[in-house]
Amino acid sequence: MFLKQLEVMGFKSFAERISVEFVPGVTAVVGPNGSGKSNIIDAIRWVLGEQSAKSLRGSKMEDVIFAGSDSRKALNIAEVTLVLDNEDGALPIDYSEVSVTRRVYRSGDSEYLLNKQPCRLKDIIELFMDSGLGKEAFSIISQGKVEEILNSKPEERRTIFEEAAGVLKYKSRKKKAENK
Ligand code: ATP
Ligand code: MG
Repeated sequence: MFLKQLEVMGFKSFAERISVEFVPGVTAVVGPNGSGKSNIIDAIRWVLGEQSAKSLRGSKMEDVIFAGSDSRKALNIAEVTLVLDNEDGALPIDYSEVSVTRRVYRSGDSEYLLNKQPCRLKDIIELFMDSGLGKEAFSIISQGKVEEILNSKPEERRTIFEEAAGVLKYKSRKKKAENK
């Protein structure tokens, strides 16, 4: 599984629709301070279901919608689509290419799409659980995260290893079964 494309529209500093194509190998995003590098990572985290405005460096979810600039009006909708190559079947879904879309309106309404079909947040979380790419997964290491991992309690640190080992989904199913 690898990232193929990221499409961002009205999300944070990206008022215009932008599309980033990822090629095999390492991609580096460079630019001056405040030019939107971290916003690209936030977009990936957000489309994968991030619910915490704080981890997206805002105070409420509406803060991810383009807030306007000297030359441009604020927008009312933010949309991000992430396309992944799933030829190797790493994601438990019968498609060789998977696209995930998330939209949010200023009214607070939110929509998720999986391969262009409306779905629930839960479907997205489950699809990416144990893939290493979930919103809390180890594949995104933000500033300060290394320190946080070192300072965390052993039980919290264990979650990272469980995700890497791919057992998180079984734990979550077990918990669900026990609740019933
Ligand atoms: P650094 O090198 O300092 O880490 P960066 O390239 O990572 O910078 P970002 O943090 O991605 O920069 O972008 C910050 C910019 O995004 C700020 O100028 C901020 O005003 C802008 N921004 C964030 N949210 C919004 C929003 N909702 N509407 C418009 N602009 C926004
Ligand atoms: Mg940054």
